[in-house]
Amino acid sequence: MHSPDRKKVVVVGAGFGGLTTAQLLARTDVDITVVDRRNFHLFQPLLYQVATAGLNPSDIAWPVRSVLRHQSNARVLLGDVVGVDTDARCVVLDDGRRLPYDYLVLATGATHTYFGHDEWAGIAPGLKRVDDATLIRRRLLMAFERAENTDDPVLRRALTTFVIVGAGPTGVEMAGAIAELAQHALASDFRSMDPRDTRILLVEGASRVLGAFPESLSEVARRDLQRMGVEVLLNAQVIGCDERGVTLKDHRIDAHTIIWAAGVAASPAARWVGCPADRAGRAIVSADLSVPGLREVFIIGDTASMKTADGKLVPGVAPAAKQAGEHVAACIRAEVQGKPRPARFRYRNFGNLATIGRNSAVIHYGRLKLSGGLAWWLWSFAHIYFLIGMRNRTLVAIQWFWNYLSYGRGARLIVGSDNSGKP
Ligand SMILES: Cc1cc2nc3c(=O)[nH]c(=O)nc-3n(C[C@H](O)[C@H](O)[C@H](O)COP(=O)(O)OP(=O)(O)OC[C@H]3O[C@@H](n4cnc5c(N)ncnc54)[C@H](O)[C@@H]3O)c2cc1C
Repeated sequence: MHSPDRKKVVVVGAGFGGLTTAQLLARTDVDITVVDRRNFHLFQPLLYQVATAGLNPSDIAWPVRSVLRHQSNARVLLGDVVGVDTDARCVVLDDGRRLPYDYLVLATGATHTYFGHDEWAGIAPGLKRVDDATLIRRRLLMAFERAENTDDPVLRRALTTFVIVGAGPTGVEMAGAIAELAQHALASDFRSMDPRDTRILLVEGASRVLGAFPESLSEVARRDLQRMGVEVLLNAQVIGCDERGVTLKDHRIDAHTIIWAAGVAASPAARWVGCPADRAGRAIVSADLSVPGLREVFIIGDTASMKTADGKLVPGVAPAAKQAGEHVAACIRAEVQGKPRPARFRYRNFGNLATIGRNSAVIHYGRLKLSGGLAWWLWSFAHIYFLIGMRNRTLVAIQWFWNYLSYGRGARLIVGSDNSGKP
């Protein structure tokens, strides 16, 4: 039971940042309320595996209630936050409920942006939520089914052409996984068409893929993608997207399936509390991750512009959100115990990882640059290790090992509906 005498901590968002804060306050004399608009914590780094039929959604998501069930000072509320009344110290939910707080942690993440072309969203879904992943999986699999059902070679070509916009880690992972799906998992399943004829184009506005990695690793990734049959178009800007394809500055690609993996837009957390924001909408927080002028409000993770001691922007990755969650828990714990809070957030960079496909990944850590099979095994172990719970670790490990041996992808279910008018 929550006590009126204890400080109230409201955490909005049960992603990597928010959940870490809540869990690390388990032994602190506070009452915690975790609010999220969905009832599960999602391991976004493996969403692309759901989108490409390698894993099921429940393999990479956990009910928040079950994660916190043994933590007696924490309760979980399902709700959509629409604002914060900083004068009254209340979080406002879309149904009008108001949650009072002494400390507020906003960890509401980010999404992709269409650079002013929101009308492309229905045509070119991004990958952020479970619903996005199952929609993309549906479109990928439906495209092959429709290609099998047509005798028109031009339509079949467009149906089996897949364009991925943006060659950051998500775009690269998607392109590699679709190539493996077409070249191996689906290769013998059709009679009128050959999935191995599939065209996969990875379109990037910059001059290299994986821009956050050293150039030599970008080059390895580009070569590996090409070896897998992916066409990599660099310095290519998308100026139009429609049901039938993508228009680039200098040419047109007929493709019925387009996937968006570009741009970042923060959640509106900065607006809720009147915090200054950068161009992506990320809250420009103080060195201790609190909002300037509001010591009791913290904004962390992908929705914040967090800086290292030397002024560099902390990357929008899961370890950074978790570390920010640790720091905020330390601040709150210190103050509740009557001690000064740690003055600044310190980010420890544990390296950058991205996978391209089977036996192909890149890792950058300090001076270490690793690629190939060893990097892929390390990438796989790291991702299994960071999943929550023994059940999910075991399930994912077994499925990956099976997929590795058989080249299969077992989660090839066409479910749900597609509001774009596509069948
Ligand atoms: C496809 C993809 C692949 C990625 N791959 C990697 C990777 O390989 N390695 C890596 O380190 N990072 C990766 N990332 C980035 C990583 O997932 C993020 O950096 C991390 O999730 C940020 O954590 P967070 O707590 O800030 O936000 P999130 O984990 O996004 O959590 C935000 C939470 O807030 C909730 N929420 C949002 N708005 C509201 C609201 N108004 N009311 C109530 N609840 C709300 C959401 O439902 C969500 O649960 C990837 C991201 C994506 C999308």
